[in-house]
Amino acid sequence: MSNDEKNKKRDFLLRDKEEQQAFLEQTWCDKCQEADLGMHTPLEYELDGTIYIEGTCSKCGEQVFTELTDDEL
Ligand SMILES: [Zn+2]
Repeated sequence: MSNDEKNKKRDFLLRDKEEQQAFLEQTWCDKCQEADLGMHTPLEYELDGTIYIEGTCSKCGEQVFTELTDDEL
């Protein structure tokens, strides 16, 4: 049994350009405690039925996560 089955990689670049831009701008950074600082090098994956977009905070370089709920899909 492998954990990989639960963690499915998705392709962020398949999203609309405008949608990608929105995800990259609308962020929340736990370290900066500030919203919409922006992130880069996004990675999208699905874990236990929830989709996450993970990137790097443009300000401090920490990992930031965006969790997508069903109504945003
Ligand atoms: Zn930050």
